[in-house]
Parts: sequence; C-alpha cells; structure tokens
Amino acid sequence: MLTDELCPHCAMTTTTKRAKKTKLGYATFFCPHCQRTFNERTGTPFNYLEFPTDIVLLAIVWRLRYKLSLRDIAEMFLARGFPFTHEAIRDWEARFAPLMADHLRARRRGQAGKSWHVDGTYLKVHGK
Ligand SMILES: [Zn+2]
Repeated sequence: MLTDELCPHCAMTTTTKRAKKTKLGYATFFCPHCQRTFNERTGTPFNYLEFPTDIVLLAIVWRLRYKLSLRDIAEMFLARGFPFTHEAIRDWEARFAPLMADHLRARRRGQAGKSWHVDGTYLKVHGK
C-alpha cells in the first residue's frame, strides 16, 4: 500500500506501509528508493523510547502541572501498567520538557505544527 509518509532517510515520499508494527504498535514503512524501513517515530526525539510517546509526554505534563514528585509519577503509571522508574522520568523531563516549552511557545505565536498538541491533561501525538 502506497502512503505519503516521508522517508526520514532519503526524503522520498513514495513509501509503502508494512503489515508489521513496532513492539509498541507504531506503524512501519518501507522506502523502495533507499530500501530502508522506518516507523512513525524514526527521526523524532522519541525514537527508541521504551514506552509510547503519549505516555512519556503525559508523565512530564503531570510532573510540571501538578508538581508531583518523580516517585509519585512512577507509582501512578505503574498502577496503569507502565513500569518505569523515577530516574527514567527525571531523564525524560530533562530531554523533553524544553522541547515541549518550545512547542507551546510556537503554538502561542500561531505557528503550531499539527503533529502534537498539549493541553495539560490530554495529549495527541502523531494522531495517537
Ligand atoms: Zn528512503
């Protein structure tokens, strides 16, 4: 099936969707031009994260918005079946909170990308 998904390796736009998904359920694609595969997170700062992007961003939002401790957040997500450590949240916060702040500033200037959206408790990432 042809898609209009851009190949992050060679920027060709004629790529095909593969039946296979990543372990976390992200769609994967094949580029006939450079013969490489990629998934929805390839080329984003969220690639290789062990947990879904929306879960990681939600942990950071709750941390920043509700001033919860790293251990509180870890406990809340563990209860929902996401066993990450408080050290992981500290690491994500350091890596992604600045990106989120930039993104929110861009939104306020009316230059929002449509790729993700944060309103405090609800997150949408690449349509997920
Ligand atoms: Zn390619």
